[in-house]
Amino acid sequence: MTEADKIRIQKHFGTNDFWEFRPPVSPEYLEQDDDPNWLGYILKTDGTRLVMKLSNLGNCTLLTSTGCPLPLNIRPLVCRLHPYCFTETELQNIESECPKDLYTSDEDLSLQLGMDKNLAESWRVQLYKELRQQNGLE
Ligand code: SF4
Repeated sequence: MTEADKIRIQKHFGTNDFWEFRPPVSPEYLEQDDDPNWLGYILKTDGTRLVMKLSNLGNCTLLTSTGCPLPLNIRPLVCRLHPYCFTETELQNIESECPKDLYTSDEDLSLQLGMDKNLAESWRVQLYKELRQQNGLE
């Protein structure tokens, strides 16, 4: 998440016990090259990045049996953008890992998910703006 995400959640919950710096689990994460500035924006010099703490089950510490307790406008921007793929320059398609083949309605999946593409694009722009700001680039 971004530093601004963290502050929004802190204000909403009134607690600071939900985040940590952790290195990416998969080495493949460090090999991504479709978004050239991403790793530079999110990784600290020790190789860790700001993320949600995990529960004993390995889920986000905030996840409840009824889903995410955060209102959409407080959720980390990468959570809001899921399941879209994105880069600093564009919003792309819905991730291939998303089981969208199970969706049978004629209605557009992004609308059914409440994922208006224009709204997602505004979150993508906000995400990178916050990342550049926290890196002193804006
Ligand atoms: S959307 Fe999921 S991962 Fe993101 S903050 Fe909410 S519970 Fe955590």
